[in-house]
Amino acid sequence: MQFSDFSLDKRLLQSLKHMGIETPTAVQAGALPIALAGKDLMASSKTGSGKTLAFLLPALQRVIATRALSKKDPRVLILLPTRELANQVYAQLRLLVANTQYRAASILGGENFNDQAKALAKEPHFIVATPGRIADHLAQRHLFLNGLELLILDEADRMLDLGFAPQLRAIHAAADHRRRQTLMFSATLDHNEIHALAAELLNNPEHLAIDAVH
Ligand code: ADP
Ligand code: MG
Repeated sequence: MQFSDFSLDKRLLQSLKHMGIETPTAVQAGALPIALAGKDLMASSKTGSGKTLAFLLPALQRVIATRALSKKDPRVLILLPTRELANQVYAQLRLLVANTQYRAASILGGENFNDQAKALAKEPHFIVATPGRIADHLAQRHLFLNGLELLILDEADRMLDLGFAPQLRAIHAAADHRRRQTLMFSATLDHNEIHALAAELLNNPEHLAIDAVH
C-alpha cells in the first residue's frame, strides 16, 4: 500500500516525498480511510508507530478539500500532554503546511500568554496546544471553537494521567457542534478513564488497535 492509494492532495504527497516517507505504517494505513471518511476514531498503537502522520494527513486533507465553517476560528486543534510532544508534532505540521496557504500556531504552557493572544488574533487554521493553556485562552475569549472541524487528542492516556480531563471536557464543550470530527490516539487502552472519555467525546467512533510498530 502507498500513500498515493488514499485520496490525498498532491501537495501532501509531495511533502511526504521530501520527508523521505514512502510507505504507510500499520496505524497510518488503518487510520487514514476512517479519518478521511470524516468518522470519529479511537486508535491505539505503540510509541514510534507513526501516529502523528496518521492524524496530520487527514487533518490537512480535510482543510484543503472542504470549505471552512468559520473564517476566524481554527479549523483543527491538536492537543498533547507536554510541550516536548507538542513541539514534535508542530515540527511535522509545519513541514506539511509549508506547501500550502494555511497557517499553523503552537500554544503551549510556559510560554508568554500575551504573545500567544497575538498569535491567536492572526487566526491560524491549525493549532497545536497543551490543554491547560488552550483552556485559559478560551476562558479569556482569545479563541472561539464554534468553527472547529477537527479535534485531535494525541497521547490521550498521558493527558488523563496528568489530570487534564476537566480541560479536555471544557475544550470539547466549546467545540460541540454537529460537524465536528474527533480523533483520539493513545499508546495504550489499559486506562479505565480513557473509555469513559472516549464515550463522552467521540460520536459513534471506529476503533483501531494496532500491535505492530511498522
Ligand atoms: P508515534 O506518535 O506513534 O510515537 P511518530 O509519529 O512520532 O510515532 O513517528 C515516529 C517516527 O517515524 C518519526 O520519526 C516519523 O518521521 C517516522 N515515520 C512516521 N511515519 C513513517 C512512514 N510511513 N515511513 C517511515 N517513517 C515514518
Ligand atoms: Mg506520538
